[in-house]
Amino acid sequence: MTDPAQTTPENQSALVLFSGGQDSSTCLAWALERFERVETVGFDYGQRHTIELTVRAQLREAMGRIKPLWQQRLGQDHMINLSALGEISQTSLTRDMEMAMGSEGLPNSFVPGRNLIFLTFAAAIAYRRGIRHLVTGVCETDYSGYPDCRDDTIKAMQVALGLGMERRFVLHTPLMWIDKAQTWNLTDELGGPTLIEAIRDISHSCYLGERKVHDWGHGCGHCPACELRADGFMRWRNHQK
Ligand code: ZN
Repeated sequence: MTDPAQTTPENQSALVLFSGGQDSSTCLAWALERFERVETVGFDYGQRHTIELTVRAQLREAMGRIKPLWQQRLGQDHMINLSALGEISQTSLTRDMEMAMGSEGLPNSFVPGRNLIFLTFAAAIAYRRGIRHLVTGVCETDYSGYPDCRDDTIKAMQVALGLGMERRFVLHTPLMWIDKAQTWNLTDELGGPTLIEAIRDISHSCYLGERKVHDWGHGCGHCPACELRADGFMRWRNHQK
């Protein structure tokens, strides 16, 4: 069989940084709507919420069932082992410690340089696969203050990757300027109630890896990721009424 990577023009294909969380799931749908071929990449760095990684396959399958066109466009999944990242960073995402604010005004869930490393690995895969567009769900609106989610960081990375690999990459951040309630709006626009349901019921955002059932999806209900997600969902739903 011909490898689709060899037949789809570079500027028609995208690689989505896909963790299995709400944001990256929305980005995957966004990319499936726009590009002729869409591949996904996930990173295993010893995060406590490894459940994120197990829901990825379920989400990809569910997305394929939403629109035949999406099924046709959805390509290969890449899984990268970045256990070294977990080893060198002492954070509440990778160690058994309480979530708290650190002395520099950053939550201790901050893994230094995480998105820079993810984007570099993603670009290396994109280079090999002949893909020009990288899509990531980072957001400056209601993020936890992570400096590597900022628009300026991403723009600088686009320049650095382009120069360092001598290849033109375009970094897309569809969620950069919208909040969690508006993210649900976008989800609705992209795939209607079926996509809302798939992302709500399958995707995983909880830092603690818990899967208790709530109106807004699964999670512990009290970690910063759950609070953000619950608040966004409630605001979106109240706006619907
Ligand atoms: Zn939680």
